[in-house]
Amino acid sequence: MKLPNLKILDETDKTLRQISKEVTFPLEKEELKLIDDALTYLEMSQIDEYNEKYNLRAGMGLSFIQLGIPKRIFVASEELEDGTFKRHVIINPEIVSKSEELIFVGEGEGCLSIARPVDGIVPRHARITIKAYDIDGNPFNIRVREDISVLFQHEIDHLNGILFIDHIDKDNPYKNEHLMREI
Ligand code: ZN
Repeated sequence: MKLPNLKILDETDKTLRQISKEVTFPLEKEELKLIDDALTYLEMSQIDEYNEKYNLRAGMGLSFIQLGIPKRIFVASEELEDGTFKRHVIINPEIVSKSEELIFVGEGEGCLSIARPVDGIVPRHARITIKAYDIDGNPFNIRVREDISVLFQHEIDHLNGILFIDHIDKDNPYKNEHLMREI
């Protein structure tokens, strides 16, 4: 596999603070290629052999704004138990329902745009249902839970110019920990 040549913006880049714009269909060729490249990149970052060879940080999700393109698209790839990957391409997402129950990732959330350890809790809904569009412009609903729910909320934040560090209380990074379930 050849590593796609992607330039992922760093947290210091103000572009990440832009609110991304709705995508129109049909998608352009360049958009389709970028979707495919981003998914390949994420998968290679999760495979030990390539992770080491290219010195990558493992990531499960990437939004277009992290590649400098302010369009409401993100992709995610989750490794299944049999070693294959389940791909998600999410365009113009809207959260239609969310659980009251809150969770947080105990070891902290990661972001390919934030290359430093960050302490603290990021409250997320344990389950959400979103409405989105596929690459052909067809609407669909998807319900996600646990780590994938966290991932989707993290990526939807990116489309609104928000980074996970924004959710952490600066004076008390572990505020309200007892009110949420750790995953
Ligand atoms: Zn991120």
